[in-house]
Amino acid sequence: MRGGNGDGHDDRSSGYRYGSFGAVPASEEAIAGLEEAAVEETREAECAVCKESFEVGDKIRKMPCSRGYHESCIFRWLRISRTCPLCRFPVSAADDRTE
Ligand SMILES: [Zn+2]
Ligand SMILES: [Zn+2]
Repeated sequence: MRGGNGDGHDDRSSGYRYGSFGAVPASEEAIAGLEEAAVEETREAECAVCKESFEVGDKIRKMPCSRGYHESCIFRWLRISRTCPLCRFPVSAADDRTE
């Protein structure tokens, strides 16, 4: 048997829904346009979305504020909210296209 005491179930991520707190999703262009980066290029040691440490070979994308996240994590995040999870720096919104 490993890990006797249950770890307090924190299911907060399931609370993220469209409009649940006025979140505006990012545009697909903004998401696709995030800069790719290698693990060594990020200032962060872990992804603020999933709290996992970056490992060599992980796909990393940088927000305009230059913070790095796992590609899959920040993509998922931006489809709900267009602001950086750490500093709330916004990227283009889906309904806010500049021409
Ligand atoms: Zn992550
Ligand atoms: Zn940021």
